[in-house]
Amino acid sequence: MVPGRRDQLAASLAEVRERIARACASAGRPAGQVTLVAVTKTYPASDVVLLSELGVTDVGENRDQEAAPKALAAAAGGAKVRWHFVGQLQRNKAKSVAAYADVVESVDSARLAEALDRAAVLRAGPLSVLIQVSIDGDPARGGTVGDDLWRVSDTVAAAGHLRLRGLMAVAPMDWDPDRAFERLAGLSERLVKAHPEAAAISAGMSGDLEAAVRHGATHVRIGTSLLGMRNQLR
Ligand SMILES: *Cc1c(COP(=O)(O)O)cnc(C)c1O
Repeated sequence: MVPGRRDQLAASLAEVRERIARACASAGRPAGQVTLVAVTKTYPASDVVLLSELGVTDVGENRDQEAAPKALAAAAGGAKVRWHFVGQLQRNKAKSVAAYADVVESVDSARLAEALDRAAVLRAGPLSVLIQVSIDGDPARGGTVGDDLWRVSDTVAAAGHLRLRGLMAVAPMDWDPDRAFERLAGLSERLVKAHPEAAAISAGMSGDLEAAVRHGATHVRIGTSLLGMRNQLR
């Protein structure tokens, strides 16, 4: 018998939570210190509703044109979740994203931060922001390079309608994830010295969440292990 989607999601969610709990235990970190962000890109709003019913509190999306209608449909279906925007973001989409996102994890330029700050004026409360870092210095998949991190984080911290919360990164394909996340942890330590409220570290995906938790991740972004293989590669 083919199990229903709810049973499928419940089973994969239990597995992912178990992986996170084991990773916390072997890192000597309290369980519950790591927030699961379910990355629902390419999957329908009905999956967001089911995940919310199963206890997932945070979901991630990487394209505004997909996320904006999905956030509306999921809310209409009763989902109560925080939306994290995790993809490369054009400044002309800032207004749309600021209307439904609770956290934008992929801010990597002062100009994007300024556009989001202007857009966030219309919100009930400030928009939380993580600065995306390019760990290997290649800007192709987004992220600040080198000292840009400090410039962009100061811009976000000074913005009236944004709240600087921390850093996000994707481990480069050809890097050992431990080396990548260790470098990210070092940058986080420096950031927190200047901005104590910016202690979040969003790191780790389906393939490398254990390494991310070992190096202090507070948020892991999990798509495939939770929802299944995506058709498109993105
Ligand atoms: C798609 C995506 C994820 C989830 O990746 P999986 O390998 O499917 O777990 C995490 N972070 C970002 C930025 C993504 O685009």
